[in-house]
Amino acid sequence: MSLQQAFRGGLLGLAAGDALGAPLEFSRRNAFIPVYGFSKGGPWKLNPGEWTDDTSMALCLATSLVESGGLDLHDQMQRYLRWYQEGYMSVSGNCFDIGTTTLSSLQRYKRYGIVPAGDPNPQASGNGGLMRLLPVILATWDNPLRLKSWVEAATMTTHASPDCLDASLVFADAVSRVLEGEALQEVLASPQILGGQTRGQAIERVLEGNYRHLDRSELGEGFYVIEALENAFWACWKGGSLKQTLLRAANLGGDADTVAAIAGQLVGVVKGEALLPDSWKQELAWCEKLQVVADDLLDLNQKLRQLPWTFDKLPAASSHSSGSHDADYRPAFHI
Ligand SMILES: [Mg+2]
Repeated sequence: MSLQQAFRGGLLGLAAGDALGAPLEFSRRNAFIPVYGFSKGGPWKLNPGEWTDDTSMALCLATSLVESGGLDLHDQMQRYLRWYQEGYMSVSGNCFDIGTTTLSSLQRYKRYGIVPAGDPNPQASGNGGLMRLLPVILATWDNPLRLKSWVEAATMTTHASPDCLDASLVFADAVSRVLEGEALQEVLASPQILGGQTRGQAIERVLEGNYRHLDRSELGEGFYVIEALENAFWACWKGGSLKQTLLRAANLGGDADTVAAIAGQLVGVVKGEALLPDSWKQELAWCEKLQVVADDLLDLNQKLRQLPWTFDKLPAASSHSSGSHDADYRPAFHI
């Protein structure tokens, strides 16, 4: 499978999972009629194939990376603010849902203009940093140092707790390993954390693979970032097609859209765009735009390969004609 197929599959998997789970968000497990495809309704009263904050924020992050030529944390925050205030990258033209940790970070950024704006408090461990993460991973997956540095930085813009950072680094490791060609089941049998060091305790249960032995009824709701990762890994571990995995994740209820969006990022990269049902591609909101953004991320990834990992942006366009020099580069964001 080509990288283009994998990149497109990951981004479409994210959006499809988000749209499948959206009607079930906040539903108690076993207290709803399962979904078998895109459906309307739910707390946001969306049309079939429309997605929520997970995909909107992922598109903000992806276009920031592409249009900035790399990591620009202020630009990322400004796009998230545009989404919140103006409905940028929203299917409905307005921001109809936002997590509490994300909202407080955007308000902090708006007031002080400082990045990272994420709350490091262990209590602030929502899944908003993880749910949108794929674009950063796709841009940097083949360079472990850049991958770790950018994943941490892009998570901390809004989510800086130990559990949030641990979850992002474990997820990024999994996606990069499948992109390298490792089998999904192998990756899920032995999850690892990028850099080898955890910040909190809770991620240990994911690293030990406990989720593989859990019954559906034993999984949490998924609003907490460790549970979201656990539920998504569980849905992928159970195997089957791309469609089956996404439906299994969405039909957990709870934070259904986000758990399915996270599962969709991983299984989408593994299976590729071609394995997403054609009828879903026709119904999925902004499908063509998502494909173009995935292709743009692949282009960025190829260009970044030419740079040492410590450079967080491509050279400015003007420097190509005048010859590049040090002033055209910015140092990487270091934690
Ligand atoms: Mg959502």
